[in-house]
Amino acid sequence: MPAICFSFSWWYPGLRKTLLLASGNAHKLEEFRRLLPEDYEIVSAPPETFFPPEDRETYFGNAWLKANACLPAPGRLILADDSGLEVDALDGRPGILSSRFAGSGASSLMNCQALIREMKETVPEKRTARFRCVLVLLDGDSGRLMGAVQGVVEGRLTKGVLGEGGFGYDPLFIPEGYQVTFGILPSSIKDRISHRGRAVRNMMRLLESLSA
Ligand code: IMP
Repeated sequence: MPAICFSFSWWYPGLRKTLLLASGNAHKLEEFRRLLPEDYEIVSAPPETFFPPEDRETYFGNAWLKANACLPAPGRLILADDSGLEVDALDGRPGILSSRFAGSGASSLMNCQALIREMKETVPEKRTARFRCVLVLLDGDSGRLMGAVQGVVEGRLTKGVLGEGGFGYDPLFIPEGYQVTFGILPSSIKDRISHRGRAVRNMMRLLESLSA
């Protein structure tokens, strides 16, 4: 997906670089805080924010829904993320349904166990998968879409849970070029190579072009 970029400036001298994260996921907030440069402050959506069901057919559509749920946010940019795991042997599933693979309200462990079961008979060379993250940026005053970018990390799935770090499917995913899962790798390595890290770096380029 190409980056969408509108060529007007949202940036004014003296304005704080504050982004409102359209997510109630504490793990994502933590990752975004690590990933963004220090001159960006990231605040979470107010706890009373109502996020509607993520019923769109694309990551972009779901991220856009989440971002819109945070309007209005005067003087802020709203950042929304939608992400998922795409397994080649399952024709790209769970994809946008990653958080609900084992059913609505499923925990990360339940989702991982469901995936382990579905992949039980899959041979090592067919266990390829990727994480994808799409980020959407909205102007908090007007609701205008300012840009959308994505990041992808390729890898393969283990046969069982390995490691206790990260969240979601991290303990099942070995990124390309490594021998252990995101559940074992230090967060500094995950940040450097992950779908979210890549998407954030693409978003930084977009923000810089908007403020130029
Ligand atoms: P959503 O973007 O909040 O709808 O959820 C995406 C789902 O994809 C998460 O609940 C996880 O199951 C999975 N996921 C997305 N990013 C990651 C990641 O960095 N590590 C592990 N799982 C992830």
